[in-house]
Amino acid sequence: MPSAPRRIARRVESWFRENRRALPWREAYNPYHVWLSEVMLQQTRMEVVLGYYSRFLNRFPTVRDLAAASEHDVLAAWSGLGYYRRARMLRDGAIAVVERFGGEVPESVEELLTIPGIGRYTAGAIASIAHQRKAPIVDGNVARILARVFLIREPPLAAAWRHAEELVAACTDPRELNQGLMELGALVCKPTNPRCDVCPLQKDCVAFAANAVDEVPVREAKKKTRALRIPLYLIRDAKGRILMRRESGKLMNAMFHLPHGNSELLETPPLEADTRQLLGTFRHTVTTRRIEFSLYDAVIARVPRDYTWIDPASMHDVPHPSYVRKALKLAAR
Ligand code: SF4
Repeated sequence: MPSAPRRIARRVESWFRENRRALPWREAYNPYHVWLSEVMLQQTRMEVVLGYYSRFLNRFPTVRDLAAASEHDVLAAWSGLGYYRRARMLRDGAIAVVERFGGEVPESVEELLTIPGIGRYTAGAIASIAHQRKAPIVDGNVARILARVFLIREPPLAAAWRHAEELVAACTDPRELNQGLMELGALVCKPTNPRCDVCPLQKDCVAFAANAVDEVPVREAKKKTRALRIPLYLIRDAKGRILMRRESGKLMNAMFHLPHGNSELLETPPLEADTRQLLGTFRHTVTTRRIEFSLYDAVIARVPRDYTWIDPASMHDVPHPSYVRKALKLAAR
């Protein structure tokens, strides 16, 4: 009879071989591709990531291409994905890989952890998935499965890492085990209504046996969201170009924004339009801030010095946050 970690690891590996989704970064397990996919998937849904992933790789096919690119171009390719710090750190990481590792993404967790933007989870993912090293990983999906299988009632992270280490030490194929755990969390052991009837770990799952699946993982209190109202100005010239400004605020620096009212989020002085007409309102959420934008069609007599006219057709070359797209869509209605 195999030990519990060995038995669980084997069940996950074999389930993954039969049920894995065909994803582009699983074609060759190129370490740069695995790294990019893991960074994009943090805080972003798979369906959204898939389109961005291939466009990003077309633009920056290798680590060296990414390291040689300007921050402006990298942010432009990331525009709409949100959490732009990820893109900056990825580029910083690529520069470090070229400068210190000759352009080859290193294999060991210890070396990976020396690269900017790579933390314990991403290092484990690259080491195990791309290089087949026995490195544990715990993301939200894995933490949830482990909390249920081992019935961990305290906030699960520390204990989950211990169990993940035991499983990977006992596994046959760390690439299959770790992806299998993530995939099980995404497809079967979901946050609500887990599909225990088709789960390969049902016989091992302590929460299932104790009828306590809904009690774990214990949820941490959600951060409160703050509501903001911000007026936005759509100012067009005779050629249909749009007035924008590159911001330097701490949340969205180096991105091009539409002129807007004074707000602590975007950290800019108010821009008073000479005439304006309300085009509509829309909602947008940034981390813990819920924003209601009012979009005005506006005319101004004099263009302020640090603003630029941007052709909407070339917006894909200009780093901009996703609310800008929502505004342009609203204006086009
Ligand atoms: Fe999750 Fe249910 Fe499987 Fe347990 S049996 S791991 S709760 S899906």
